[in-house]
Amino acid sequence: MDTYDSNNIFAEILRGEVPVHKVYEDGATLAFMDTTPRTDGHVLVIPKVRARNILDVAPDILADLMIKTQRIAVAIKTALKADGLSIQQYSESAGGQTVFHLHIHILPRYRGVPLRSPAEIMPGNSLLAAQAESIRKALA
Ligand code: 5GP
Repeated sequence: MDTYDSNNIFAEILRGEVPVHKVYEDGATLAFMDTTPRTDGHVLVIPKVRARNILDVAPDILADLMIKTQRIAVAIKTALKADGLSIQQYSESAGGQTVFHLHIHILPRYRGVPLRSPAEIMPGNSLLAAQAESIRKALA
């Protein structure tokens, strides 16, 4: 059964209906800055196919998504001088998922700095644009 509902914000982003600060894009994957980051430099990596979460995604799509996630994570750690990274994926409401298009969170971590609560802050566009640019440069 197809559990994917294309009426979600990431589907709108993929259709070009909502602007994002892009970090990486290829034929299968899009990565962009989270607008309410739980750490400075919080990035989301999504596949370009209809996939609700880890429960329905095709294994080859997931494998490719994780390969891209690793590459982007390395660039984020370098660009934003992070001490480490947390990689998160939530599936279904009970698992903490709020947007029902598969996404991987990359959270740069700094020693002694806890994660913020969801939606605790909304940085200005200029900061997100600068972070995205520095990550893109590290990927180049
Ligand atoms: P979830 O809780 O589903 O794993 O995470 C959804 C994520 O999407 C949250 O971190 C939230 O801040 C982010 N998000 C929600 N709406 C938007 C949006 O319109 N643009 C961007 N860039 N991120 C969003």
